[in-house]
Amino acid sequence: MTVSAREGAPRPADPAPLGFTPGGFLLVISGPSGAGKGTLVDRLVSTRPECLFSISSTTRPQRAKEQDGVQYEFVTRQEFERRRSAGFFLEWAEVHGQLYGTPVRFVDDEVKRGRVVVLDVDVQGGASVRRARPDAVSVFIYPPSIDALRQRLLHRATDSAEVVERRLKDAPGELSQYREYDYLVMNDDLEQAARRLTNIVDAERARVRRLAEKS
Ligand code: ADP
Ligand code: 5GP
Repeated sequence: MTVSAREGAPRPADPAPLGFTPGGFLLVISGPSGAGKGTLVDRLVSTRPECLFSISSTTRPQRAKEQDGVQYEFVTRQEFERRRSAGFFLEWAEVHGQLYGTPVRFVDDEVKRGRVVVLDVDVQGGASVRRARPDAVSVFIYPPSIDALRQRLLHRATDSAEVVERRLKDAPGELSQYREYDYLVMNDDLEQAARRLTNIVDAERARVRRLAEKS
């Protein structure tokens, strides 16, 4: 049978969609302590209603300015282990000597609802999320120097000198993982870095494969 050239063309019966609904995805943010992840994530979620922060569980002690259920759910090691055994986490890891885990049900439900769910996780968590949810978009926040990290952690003044040193010691190993990420955002100037992150979200939000046609 001869195939006419017209057969591949759009049929008049297929009307062009009049609008689109963007699909949700997981946005994984990693980088060494002091790189500016928390600052950039706060700015993103406060300016973009489609972006929603995922609240992890942690055994780390609560800092003075933190509220339980806002930055984290602060739990005992026993409660963390109970949650882990109950399948509460998409991923979990020990980072700088404390346990942290991402709530699976919350993040999957919100992505299904079309939200950009923002995960601030370490490089082990980043690797686990990419494996478990290959559609995730990952961004590495890179500091201008190790000295800048030290200055920022000291200026933040949320952790003891011992904790700051432990975090700085872990930084080179974390930095070496940037190649595993989809994007790198250099956080030298904060305004520019915030714009770079928003641009990534906008570009990923416009991906045709995630768009649903409005009828
Ligand atoms: P992280 O969450 O990666 O550990 P934070 O967001 O808490 O890092 O930032 C660490 C400190 O550095 C905070 O005091 C924050 O205000 C500051 N900071 C963040 N980005 C910049 C920047 N571009 N320039 C200078 N200071 C910054
Ligand atoms: P902080 O104690 O400074 O809030 O976070 C320390 C490290 O733990 C950061 O690298 C942060 O990204 C990471 N982290 C926070 N929540 C999670 C989580 O749920 N899973 C993993 N794997 N890392 C997390």
